[in-house]
Amino acid sequence: TKKNTPAPAADPTAPSGADEPRVSARQVLARFVAYYKPYKFLFFFDLVCASVLAAVDLAFPQFLGFFTREFFLEPPEAILSALGWIALGFAALYALRTACQYFITAWGHIMGARMEADMRMDLFRQYQRLSFSYYDRNNTGEMMSKLLTDLFDISELAHHGPENLFICILKIAGSFVLLFMINVPLTAIMLAATAVMAAYAFWRNYRKRVIFTENRRKMADINARLQDSLGGIRVVKSFGNEGVEIAKFGGTNERFVDTKESSYRFMGAFHAVNSVFTGVLYTVTIVGGGYFVATGGLAPAELAIYALYIGIFLSPIEQLINFTEQFQKGYAGFRRFMEVLAVRPDVRNRPGALPLAAAEAERGRADGFVAGEVRYRGVRFGYDGEHEVLRGLDLAIPAGTTVALVGPSGGGKTTTCSLLPRFYDPGAGSVEIDGIDVRDVTVETLREAIGIVQQDVYLFGGTVRENIAYGRPDATDAQIVEAARRANIHEFVMGLPEGYDTFVGERGARLSGGQKQRIAIARVFLRNPRILILDEATSALDNESERAIQASLEELSEGRTTLVIAHRLSTIRGADLIAVVEDGRMVEQGTHDELLELGGTYARYYEMQFGRPSEGL
Ligand code: ADP
Ligand code: MG
Repeated sequence: TKKNTPAPAADPTAPSGADEPRVSARQVLARFVAYYKPYKFLFFFDLVCASVLAAVDLAFPQFLGFFTREFFLEPPEAILSALGWIALGFAALYALRTACQYFITAWGHIMGARMEADMRMDLFRQYQRLSFSYYDRNNTGEMMSKLLTDLFDISELAHHGPENLFICILKIAGSFVLLFMINVPLTAIMLAATAVMAAYAFWRNYRKRVIFTENRRKMADINARLQDSLGGIRVVKSFGNEGVEIAKFGGTNERFVDTKESSYRFMGAFHAVNSVFTGVLYTVTIVGGGYFVATGGLAPAELAIYALYIGIFLSPIEQLINFTEQFQKGYAGFRRFMEVLAVRPDVRNRPGALPLAAAEAERGRADGFVAGEVRYRGVRFGYDGEHEVLRGLDLAIPAGTTVALVGPSGGGKTTTCSLLPRFYDPGAGSVEIDGIDVRDVTVETLREAIGIVQQDVYLFGGTVRENIAYGRPDATDAQIVEAARRANIHEFVMGLPEGYDTFVGERGARLSGGQKQRIAIARVFLRNPRILILDEATSALDNESERAIQASLEELSEGRTTLVIAHRLSTIRGADLIAVVEDGRMVEQGTHDELLELGGTYARYYEMQFGRPSEGL
């Protein structure tokens, strides 16, 4: 749909509503490394501690060799008198190792957690930036699982990864050198066996990646189901559909456990094969070692030290294999994380976009005053880029007047309204405020100028005060009370046990539909926008609440440009202009009397309304 966008707002490189962009391995690595930056000292110290750990472990058989080969052959008195010093030396050495181990375990994890927090912030920020179109395409449960599960795997990799890799490589390289120094032919055989083992691990890596990706997807499905079912729990219960929901969740849960099972079977087989390799290595050590001892190439004591080094050499190999598992998980998670970060919001500020007031001032309006004339010019738009919902819609609303959009459900009224605050951008044509294309001003200032009251009100978990002040957190108590008075909710709020500090419950569950709607109206009063959109604001209410709220809405629209979508005849009749939107086009436009005279679509609706007064237009 973006292809027809006029030049200033278009960005040819932007993925036009396309799915998440692909990210190359190099980009992934570069981005990953960047997250270490704030913690480089911690990271550096972590690696130092890791080296100490590896060195101490590598040194132990050396000490043992020295003692058995030389020192313990000294006279007994000399040995006995040195034991105290030896104890002291070893105590110091292992105290150092313990300190390093503590640092790695505590601070390594802390570093990982902090990096995870940084990534979580980046992802949350991105989620806030992304456009409506992204939320249309993606599932919030899945988005949540990226924020929670994926990032945990990433942080585990982030802090264990480099340090493990470092320790392992030091130990493997170190023990190999020492093994070679003890016996060359035996070690050559070991090397060959290890190479086979490594080749096997790499060969299985691909399969592992597939399994973990599948695992992750199924976990996201669980999140999505939870989100859907708990979010709609009132509907679930009202239909008595708990059983249906349990069955659906059971299916999702079962599929998750199935992929988990296959991943565990895979891991089991994988580790079994590795265990076979370990057995082979030890067998080769004993048999090969025995051969060299018998043929005089190796002292029996040396063979014992050799076996110790094989142990030191094997544990990092196993760790490395486990690490590939962790790496696969973390890498898959990080890649998905980056793919989300790489999405460019469809709606964003064009380079050089001005604040609305500045754009108004540029057109000679004193103090950047927003008059609020709204104009749609040949607007074409489709949500998916294929099916056009608006097909060349024209509409002009003089500043400060009220236009009522009427027409059949699905005709495009809500869509028309959502293009004004740029929830979406038109594919062709333009939407203007005071002759300024809405794409030429910054999104923030544009939305500041527009207030919206919809059919379903979303209240945030918090107090009445916080909900009213949502659009103006710096509002004074007097301003909040004033807004509540004008929305006709002040008396009600004062009657609540804790007045403005009463909690409204999740999504405002403790309030009635009419009360929630009034809070939403108070919110907009406080914000004081120049332009107002009332999208079936009273449709969900009973007749009595509707009549009562009507008065507040009329006061709210006083002096503001208002787009109202309504079914009540009195509301429509009271509008300065009636615009009939059908099939994405403006089919008729005029005052109530003019349109009746015309005898077209509106006249037909009006007749229907007249015939059955209780029904809406
Ligand atoms: P009205 O408000 O006049 O009832 P809408 O503007 O809500 O109509 O919808 C116009 C058309 O656009 C309908 O066919 C509807 O299915 C479709 N539509 C609305 N919102 C979306 C969306 N977020 N994604 C895809 N299609 C949508
Ligand atoms: Mg609608």
